[in-house]
Amino acid sequence: MSGKTEARDLLLSLIDATKASDLHDTTPEQAVANAIHEALIYQPSLRNCIFPTCIREFDMTARMNGWEPVNPSWSGDGWHQAIRGISHGSICPDHVAVITDHMARPAELPNGRWTLSCACGWMPRPQTWGGLLKPLWEQHILTAAGVLPAPETPAEPFERIPLAEHTESTLTELYDQLDDTEHDRQETREAAQAMYRGWDWHRNTLGGISRAVVAVCNMMRTSADFLDHRDWTADRIDAYLWAVLIGWNDDTLAQLAEKHRWNEHRIKYIREMRALLAPITDPQPKED
Ligand SMILES: [Zn+2]
Ligand SMILES: [Zn+2]
Repeated sequence: MSGKTEARDLLLSLIDATKASDLHDTTPEQAVANAIHEALIYQPSLRNCIFPTCIREFDMTARMNGWEPVNPSWSGDGWHQAIRGISHGSICPDHVAVITDHMARPAELPNGRWTLSCACGWMPRPQTWGGLLKPLWEQHILTAAGVLPAPETPAEPFERIPLAEHTESTLTELYDQLDDTEHDRQETREAAQAMYRGWDWHRNTLGGISRAVVAVCNMMRTSADFLDHRDWTADRIDAYLWAVLIGWNDDTLAQLAEKHRWNEHRIKYIREMRALLAPITDPQPKED
């Protein structure tokens, strides 16, 4: 024991007949007051382990000040601090491993209910009141450490209870499960509807683009066939437009490339643009 002896020693000296005569400056009142003050200041500040049922503790004051704790079992050696997770506080050396394996964080669900996300993958059933999560986690960690027997897992997700045997609490549980499922279903439906709306918009837009581009292509074909027998190969811009919008066969494309001095990059680009437009301009096989 160190750091907490001065006032006490002084007090002891005062009541010692052989030493008291040397202490002219100290009144008994002063010595007593000092001793009380010292006792308060140096009071151990004990911290418990957050593992439920664990009774180990350590003296935070002694630890912070680097003193030997009054009781050797109050040493802070090997203790950890849990600052995240559902349960905050100190962890004794015996329980550091199991608590680290089961560090669990609260998670708010979209329907305003709460659950936990444990490092081991465990999640309790959602709760309306977040205050229930800590006891649930404590039960989980006691089970994980083998202090409590593992809960019997029913063969089915939930066991069927005969109608006549339902109680208020079994019904509440069922309604809660129903509420969770209902909310999930609502969310899935909303996501599906949003996807459908997005798909429908693109489908309509693409349909419109297709009609417009096909109209241009038809006009080009008409002018080539009988309107004015326009030669779409003569001019390099015409040839280029036809190449992208309607497409030349390979031989014609090779001849035009030579005639209009298109290099291989230009030809590659033309082929790429043609391939991009093909789904819009060329009749597609019908779905179904
Ligand atoms: Zn412990
Ligand atoms: Zn766990």
